Amino acid sequence: MNDNRKEKRNSRCGFIALVGRPNVGKSTLLNHFLRQKISITSRKPQTTRHRILGVHSTSDTQFIYVDTPGLHHERKKTLNRLMNETVERVISDVDVVFFIVERTAWTDEDELVLNALLNVNKPILLLINKVDQLQDKKRLLPHIEALSAKRHFVEIIPVSALKGHNLEVIDEAVRQYLPEGQFLFPVDQVTDRSVRFLAAEMVREKIIRQLGDELPYEATVEIEKFQDQGRTLHVDALILVEKAGQKQILIGKEGSRLKLVGSAAREDMEKAFEKKVMLKLWVKVRSGWADNERALKSLGYTDYQSI
Ligand code: GDP
Ligand code: MG
Repeated sequence: MNDNRKEKRNSRCGFIALVGRPNVGKSTLLNHFLRQKISITSRKPQTTRHRILGVHSTSDTQFIYVDTPGLHHERKKTLNRLMNETVERVISDVDVVFFIVERTAWTDEDELVLNALLNVNKPILLLINKVDQLQDKKRLLPHIEALSAKRHFVEIIPVSALKGHNLEVIDEAVRQYLPEGQFLFPVDQVTDRSVRFLAAEMVREKIIRQLGDELPYEATVEIEKFQDQGRTLHVDALILVEKAGQKQILIGKEGSRLKLVGSAAREDMEKAFEKKVMLKLWVKVRSGWADNERALKSLGYTDYQSI
């Protein structure tokens, strides 16, 4: 050990699962956790099977955020079953879970997520997001009390992802639950495959936002082209849906809905990649695929090496 660095803390590095029903602010929070940088990477240590959303490194801590797809939806069809299995697997492997809820709201979907966490034997930090929207902050206290009666949380932290409040507090609170050890990822590495993955996620997120329950988890996005041509990034994305009807819904009247999906995803990409983006979207029906595990595997739902 280097003697002049006595007060330096040992490095820690670990996996954090983000869970919470749609719309509580997971993506917004993640952006803040990553300090708006894309530090996602596909170079994974042998032992991880996680779907990695991003990595944030400080001088002595590496926070690896992982996704838990499908936690907030009812089990139905093979697709959702696979996703629920994924959830269990992801959570069994992480060091810490962030359970994200919003303000003083508590919905059936929050309850579903909580139920999935009941038997989880990991430290769970409850993040109460969007507190900036609370007129009367005093209302938070009884709510916190009610939530802490539901199960044990190692910490309950009110946050505002939008304003970036309390992020350092969260980093510090979670640090103690991450194992001591070397960083698993190089600091600030961006790879082509991971940015493709991120681009696909941006499209998928906009589809879900546009269609909500009309198309739950039945759309998959494949990035067919991801070409950096100097000042412009050219991205072609193929959206696979299950039925012709869904294709119609997604495309919308004279393509209006797909246009909304495309422009919102493009804006996200331009922000993230700091470049002008030309995004082209296609929708294709992949008949019966949701019940075909092999097709799912080929699309990367169960094979984490492909991310
Ligand atoms: P996700 O579905 O859980 O990933 O949620 P998003 O991150 O997409 O956020 C859903 C909506 O909530 C978006 O319109 C966000 O701008 C908004 N939002 C997220 N965090 C906050 C917050 O702290 N305060 C407020 N007022 N809005 C927020
Ligand atoms: Mg999201």
